[in-house]
Amino acid sequence: MKRLFAVWFALVLPLAAAAQSTTDLNQAVSSITPDDVYSRVALLAHDSMMGRDTPSPGLDLTAEYIAAEFRRIGLQPGGDNGTFIQRYPLTQIHSALEVAVEGGEDLVAGRDVVQVDGAAAQHGATGQTVLITGSGELGNRFPIAGSVVLVAANYDPERRNLTEESQRLLAAIADRDPAAVFILADYPDRIWRFFARMQRPNQVVRGYVPSSQQGPPVLAVSPSAAVELLGMAPSTDGDLAVREINGLSITVTANRTVSETSAPNVVGILEGSDPELKNEYIVYSGHMDHVGFRSGVTGDSIFNGADDNASGTVGIIELAEAYAMLEPRPKRSMIFLLVSGEERGLWGSDHFANNPSVPVEQLVANFNADMIGRNWADTIVVIGKEHSDLGATMNRVNGEHPELGMTAIDDIWPNERFYYRSDHYKFAEKGVPILFFFNGVHEDYHRASDEVEKIDAEKMSRIVKLMFYLGVEVANAPERPKWDPDSYDRIVKRVTP
Ligand SMILES: [Zn+2]
Repeated sequence: MKRLFAVWFALVLPLAAAAQSTTDLNQAVSSITPDDVYSRVALLAHDSMMGRDTPSPGLDLTAEYIAAEFRRIGLQPGGDNGTFIQRYPLTQIHSALEVAVEGGEDLVAGRDVVQVDGAAAQHGATGQTVLITGSGELGNRFPIAGSVVLVAANYDPERRNLTEESQRLLAAIADRDPAAVFILADYPDRIWRFFARMQRPNQVVRGYVPSSQQGPPVLAVSPSAAVELLGMAPSTDGDLAVREINGLSITVTANRTVSETSAPNVVGILEGSDPELKNEYIVYSGHMDHVGFRSGVTGDSIFNGADDNASGTVGIIELAEAYAMLEPRPKRSMIFLLVSGEERGLWGSDHFANNPSVPVEQLVANFNADMIGRNWADTIVVIGKEHSDLGATMNRVNGEHPELGMTAIDDIWPNERFYYRSDHYKFAEKGVPILFFFNGVHEDYHRASDEVEKIDAEKMSRIVKLMFYLGVEVANAPERPKWDPDSYDRIVKRVTP
């Protein structure tokens, strides 16, 4: 239907073009409608997308949809090998761990015990059980080779690691060819919960260098499981003492496979109309990923992320569509960027900022939209105004468009440090001035109840129109945006005053 219509339209275009040579701003902006906004959010926040986790089939589907829209709109591809998709590498870790205890309770992986280092032990590692307590030099007095060694150790919350002394002792033990090593340390609850997450059977990480896949399996035991196992909390007080524990036989079966995977960003480019200024780019960005689904829960298990951040994603698509209609085009070029992995730690924006489609010096501004479909009908928080002259431009453009009924207010939650918490920050770090459009959190934030029915599409369309007028202003300005010098020192050069 669309394609046929386009052919027909192309045939009659010469006449129409003669009658009217420009598509003015108002026509372009009127393409941003509540209906469009709502139906697009409904699509991305549909259960079939399974919460758009990074990486996941639903995320890839989302990226393909956006790429197809960018192609239809007429953007140039800015991704890998002439496509709209830019992929970044991730590491998939599958791990299975079983710790069987004869003469005691088995240790449950991810609750009582986690593997922190060392190789797989597919066929079960076992040996004489040896307990090391106290502190001092190991020397070569003790029967370590072939043993399952339990070691009392100390955790230093300041270093967020074991104490240096404990680490030295563990290294000396690992060198002596034990069958397996168990670390019995006083891990604080908070740290233990973090460790336990690392033992999930399937996980994906970015920038992960697997710890040594050689040497004996090294496992950490939770403080309560250590007491359970030994009937006491092992201590590092006193001189180093080693004793064999008969009647307690431990077998470790550890399996870890590490494989490569990847996740998508989507990049579309609209070339500017000015022969010089078209070499400068404004980046509109939003994250298309969310947090996926939870298995084993009753009720709604899919986190659809309608506000977070189907809303911002749709805003960027609507902006691309409106800009592509403008004739003549804005002087500077535009990059429309949808990233993934935001919820995992700004993965996609970090990758793009380090591997941009054009040199990073040519990026003059970033406007990021993350959660723009909820809360007040007449207000949008614009974070980062004080850090560059984009703030003054924003306020001026806002004043010129009272018909939108939308006020772009300053950051009202500075203590939450939202400036550092979404994708724009990766651009700021690289010296690109930013503004961040954000309606604030709400009771459905990161819950299964963040659904399309709660999106205020009418309000959202007015925010997107405001973002459009702002971009036109910055794209056509004689000078590129400028940082506030103090902010630049602090945020980009990281000079502390
Ligand atoms: Zn978000």
